[in-house]
Formats: sequence, C-alpha cells, structure tokens
Amino acid sequence: MKKNCVLVSGGAGYIGSHTAVELITAGFDVVIADNLSNSDMSGVEGVRRITGVDVPFVNVDCCDREAFAEVFRRYDFDSVIHFAAYKAVGESVADPMKYYRNNLTSFMNVIDLMREYGRSNIVFSSSATVYGEADELPVTEQTPRKPATSAYGNTKQMCEDILRDSVAAYSSLKGIALRYFNPVGAHPSALIGELPRGVPQNLVPYITQTAAGIRECLSIFGDDYPTEDGSCLRDYIDIVDLAKAHVAAISRMVEQKNKERYEVFNVGTGRAVSVFELVRTFERVNDLKLNYKVAPRRAGDVVAVWADTTLANEELGWQAERPLDETMRSAWAWEKYVRKL
Ligand code: NAD
Ligand code: UDP
Repeated sequence: MKKNCVLVSGGAGYIGSHTAVELITAGFDVVIADNLSNSDMSGVEGVRRITGVDVPFVNVDCCDREAFAEVFRRYDFDSVIHFAAYKAVGESVADPMKYYRNNLTSFMNVIDLMREYGRSNIVFSSSATVYGEADELPVTEQTPRKPATSAYGNTKQMCEDILRDSVAAYSSLKGIALRYFNPVGAHPSALIGELPRGVPQNLVPYITQTAAGIRECLSIFGDDYPTEDGSCLRDYIDIVDLAKAHVAAISRMVEQKNKERYEVFNVGTGRAVSVFELVRTFERVNDLKLNYKVAPRRAGDVVAVWADTTLANEELGWQAERPLDETMRSAWAWEKYVRKL
C-alpha cells in the first residue's frame, strides 16, 4: 500500500476540503470520496485550484458498501480520514435514525473495508460535544465524557468506541480520534470555506451571512450565563490549523510514532472566547457593524467548553497558530467570494 496516499471521505465538505489541501501541501496523495449530500463540487474544485493537483474524486455513498469497496479496489491508499457524516445537532434530535444510519453505517463500512483490503491508519472526526457540560475546564482527553444530549453527539461517542474496540481487536489497524472544538474561518485564498445549506445553525456562518445582508439580525443566545460577559464560551479553532492537525495525526501513524494503537487528541486553541468577543472581533477586523440582538438561551447549549491542548502540542507536535483576527477576516473574505460581493 502507498504510505503517502490518503482517502478523505467527506472530502468535498468544509473540514475535508481544507484537510485535502494541507495533505497535498505536505506531500501526500489524496483521493476524495463524497456523496455530495451536504456539499457540491466547488469544494473539490477549490482544492484542485489551490494545489494545482487534479485530485481524484469519487461520488460514492460510504453507506453503500459495495460501491464504497470499489474505491478500496481502485486506489492504493494506506490511510483514511473519515469526515463523512451528518452534523446538524437539532436535526439529529428530530430524526435520530437518519443520523444513526448514516454516521454509524458509513464508519463501520470504513473499518470493515480497511480490514478487508489491508489498510492501516484511520483518523476519525470526533467532537468536543463528547465532553458535554464538563465538571472541570479546560477539558483534557482524560475528562470524562458526558451522556450525549443529541443523536449526533451519540454517534460521535459510539464511533469513538467502535474505533477503540476495533483497534484493540484487529492488530492491522491503528486509529486516532480528533476531538474538534469549534472550527471556523476559511482558507486564506478564499477559494474554499464553509457552505451551510439553509439557515446556518453555527455562529460564524450566521455572523457572515448577517453581514452580507442574507440574514437580518444575529441572535445572541443568552447574555445571562455565569460568564464574565454573560454569553457562552467556546474554543474557536481556525480551519487551516485544524486541517494541519490531521496531517500531523496521519504522519504520526505512518511514521509509527504513535504510543498506543488508539489515541485521542483535543484539537483547539486552548483559549475561551465569548460570543460577544467573537462578534466584536469580527466587527473590528472587517471594519463593519453587525446587526445583532440578545435572544433567549438556546436549548441544549453548554455554558463553556475549551481545550487543554497539551497532549496535541507535545505528542502531535501541533499547535494552533493563526490568530483569531485573521480567522475572522478569512470568514468574511469567503462569504464575500461566495456571494460575489
Ligand atoms: P460537511 O457537511 O461540510 O462535510 C461532511 C461531508 O460528508 C459532506 O461533503 C457530505 O456530503 C459528506 N457525507 C455525508 N454523509 C456521507 C456519506 N454517507 N457518504 C459520503 N459522503 C457523505 O461537515 P464538516 O463540518 O466538514 O464536518 C466533517 C466532520 O467533522 C463530520 O464528521 C462532523 O461531524 C465533524 N465535526 C464537525 C464540526 C464542525 O463544527 N464543523 C465539529 C466537530 C466535528
Ligand atoms: N450562537 C448564537 N447565535 C447563533 C448561533 C450560535 O449566539 O445564531 C452561540 C451559541 O449559543 C453558542 C456559540 O454561539 O454559545 C457557538 O455555537 P455553535 O452552534 O456555532 O457551536 P456549538 O454550540 O456547537 O459549540
């Protein structure tokens, strides 16, 4: 198997497309597999334009085992980064089976096919959502996971467990679960970025769409939390930094530097930022005023979560580098590019 070739499932999406760019920049060959259920070809085309590489793309549903097996037969990758999943928390509460079916089936197919076709390394996209409302902050990888409050969150916990148990049982496999905090921003070229369908559920796309005049007014969900300014605290990780963490994780396994065959890393900045602070930063660095109001708390929101990143810093040799100012500038540059402003 080619050690420097990586299958990026869900690679047409937000995090996958940025990761494909960073993998190629670091010298890896990349194959993208995606069914475009939450993306379109603009992500893949953006990757091709930025890198100048005609990255192979396969339109395939990872839940369709036979069709997905063909990708394993056709391409000579030794590693997989599995992004392919649905990710809308609210929708997963309304229609849990949609989430269990897609997120679990696609992941189990990846593991089965890796075994069947003798592939070694897998990175799984997990989330800080597994920590819920943590008892201690910042959270380390040892901080206990809390029972999931959505089917989406549950699929992340279940896939982590599937990966842990599979790696323990099947000696051909090594795995890393990366727990992302809040990925934000866009590539500095503004050729790829986050492309939410319908009304954005996440803060930064809501901010940029409000600035673009697509949304009338940003609602800040709660100013009466027990934090300094009353709004929630999160750890906003720049998308390019997050993408680079995947390169570090794959390299660690390819170079056999992993200490355990299954490992978990937090991928964040280590810094807590409030909703008000993020809005102010966006306004300042882009020199505009955002229309916003304070609204009631959103059901299910945790008050605060941010990462202790010591493990990723020391073991992956990775750390977040891009300043928040630049990230928020890139988010706006991307929105303007998409809307042709
Ligand atoms: P995204 O929706 O932009 O990308 C996911 C991609 O997977 C999409 O292109 C979609 O078409 C594809 N896909 C979904 N189901 C598929 C299937 N069965 N077969 C083939 N392709 C399929 O989402 P993203 O923000 O890039 O997230 C990537 C991963 O990271 C997801 O697993 C998500 O749960 C996880 N994650 C995201 C965040 C975040 O805030 N964006 C935070 C934590 C974890
Ligand atoms: N948020 C907000 N208005 C919005 C969207 C989000 O005030 O329109 C807040 C939300 O309450 C949370 C923070 O922004 O405190 C981050 O929310 P997001 O959905 O982006 O991420 P998550 O809640 O998954 O961490």
